[in-house]
Amino acid sequence: MKRVRRFVQAALVSIATITTITSGGGDRAHAKGWPTPAAGPSASGDPELVFTFDDGPSPSTTPKVLDILAKHHIKAVFFLVGEMAGSGNQKVPAIIARILADGHVIANHTMTHKDLCRKKTSDEAAAKDLDDGKATIERVAGVHTFWFRAPYGVRCDRLDGMLAERHITHFHWDLDPQEWKHNDAKKAFDYVTKNLAKMTGRNVLLMHDIKKATVIALPQILDWIDAENARREAAHKRPIRIVSAPELAAERIPADLRAWAADAIPTRGGLGARLASILP
Ligand SMILES: [Zn+2]
Repeated sequence: MKRVRRFVQAALVSIATITTITSGGGDRAHAKGWPTPAAGPSASGDPELVFTFDDGPSPSTTPKVLDILAKHHIKAVFFLVGEMAGSGNQKVPAIIARILADGHVIANHTMTHKDLCRKKTSDEAAAKDLDDGKATIERVAGVHTFWFRAPYGVRCDRLDGMLAERHITHFHWDLDPQEWKHNDAKKAFDYVTKNLAKMTGRNVLLMHDIKKATVIALPQILDWIDAENARREAAHKRPIRIVSAPELAAERIPADLRAWAADAIPTRGGLGARLASILP
């Protein structure tokens, strides 16, 4: 059953990546040429937030991030680094298994966190870092990965070519609290809540599950969202809606396939719920 589940998830996310993230206009200083909004427009019309975590897994901090997300019923995307996933640390395989069991989506963030657009890096070395990361993460996790995020969010013709060859769509972000740089929880909290307060449309938040600042700031951010949504409800304003990673995958299934699946899967709870239930 587990294998079937994994296969279906792989198929769904695969289909999803073909259709995906490349819609959107404008550019932001930190976006480095990737389209914004990073995950398309809001599906609900509410301000929407997608949680993503990069650079892990860390044996010490990732389990804490997972505890916090579980408490708030949030399903995120984890962009793992191959070296971390295949580090040989005995705790890591269980942490990766828990990421999947908790319903998050695992994705590729290269093998060694190389800047794939750096001129000094050869084409072969860049391709190897991308491919080795994917292979290592998949070996440890036992699932296919389809989503990819370039270290440092870089973009260049070489990377575009490599992604096109592999039918991979890049998964960028909209909000970067930079805790990877300053490791300051207060700064991260202030940045995120300031942006969430005025947020419209769908925003992808980038955080790092290997940073202590993330472990401290994340529950504060989630408590702030709960309080903010209570305020908004009282004022009859649109709430901040957190979009789960499986939901994001499912909504990207082409409409005709969705219609086919609706016929093929006898449903009581609606196709969305069915899809969510077969994703890990
Ligand atoms: Zn990174």
